[in-house]
Amino acid sequence: MYLGFHKHKPCNALTLAALAVTLWAPPSMAEWFTDARPMMGTEVSVYFWHDDAEAGSLALDAVFAEAERINQLMSTYIEESPISDLNRRAASEPVATDEELFHLIQRSLDISVLTRGAFDITYESVGQHYDFRRRMRPDTATVLEEKELIDFRLVRLDAAAGTVSFGKEGVRINLGGIAKGYVVERGVDVLRLRGATHGIVTAGGDSRLLGDRRGRPWMIGIRDPREDGKVAISLPLADEAVSTSGDYERFFDEDGVRYHHIIEPSSGAPAGKVHSATVFGPDAVITDALSTSVFVLGVEDGLTLISALPDYESVVIDSAGQIYYSDGLQVPESP
Ligand code: ADP
Ligand code: MG
Repeated sequence: MYLGFHKHKPCNALTLAALAVTLWAPPSMAEWFTDARPMMGTEVSVYFWHDDAEAGSLALDAVFAEAERINQLMSTYIEESPISDLNRRAASEPVATDEELFHLIQRSLDISVLTRGAFDITYESVGQHYDFRRRMRPDTATVLEEKELIDFRLVRLDAAAGTVSFGKEGVRINLGGIAKGYVVERGVDVLRLRGATHGIVTAGGDSRLLGDRRGRPWMIGIRDPREDGKVAISLPLADEAVSTSGDYERFFDEDGVRYHHIIEPSSGAPAGKVHSATVFGPDAVITDALSTSVFVLGVEDGLTLISALPDYESVVIDSAGQIYYSDGLQVPESP
């Protein structure tokens, strides 16, 4: 997803503007706060209004601290993280784990049931063999072997004991399709608890809006999946979560094939039906997981899934660049 104010240059300019106001304004003046930092393999950005300059700048730091706290729990790149501990040990024994991590795994499994396995955190048995920066991908034999280990039913939770175990040797999980939604949801909780009522927290393709933009809706742009910097459509939204999954975030092209980061669990290959899937609704954890799911399912099955969920809507751009809307959305009239 792409936000107007979130381009690198304007964002820096805004950050500087906010800094200048902080330096020169008398204390306790209301203002917009903004900052963007690289985190979780993407960029986390925060933008909000606060009536008090000092409380606002503390809130800004608190959102990034919260994002980093969650990253430490859920990143498979951090060897000491509780999720890495599960990936090392849960196939041999039930492993007592962090309560928050347990809960997000539980929610992931619920979404696997809802999407009939299109969303599946065990995609990681195949996913671990990709390194997009170094253009590395698994060969066909590895995909065939590892895809046998993609099955969310192999993840077993014992709520009473607080333990997680995996049903087969080699099963691995990765929360990359849901954790950023959790980060932005928690980020907005932090802002709200610290007195903000208008703001937006974004992590990669996931955003959570707090209120409106002081009397106007936020304009959320869905980027053109094949033209960098171009917006395909803009949606006026307030108080909602919005997530986009695309095949242009982490990828490389080889012999005319795009290898990217969203894996179709049934084949173990990168999902190829569409170029981007956007979902919006009340909860960023759900929109994040559902945008990944709709991306895997494609236009027809994806929009059928969304139409069964009263609070959620979706916009899908297929591989021909055609835009599709879920039933609850009014299609804009062509000019
Ligand atoms: P982004 O990370 O760009 O916001 P998504 O929300 O669509 O995009 O998440 C993509 C990530 O989800 C991948 O990088 C990977 O970590 C994870 N993932 C890939 N395929 C699946 C899948 N079928 N089910 C669940 N998670 C997946
Ligand atoms: Mg997602």
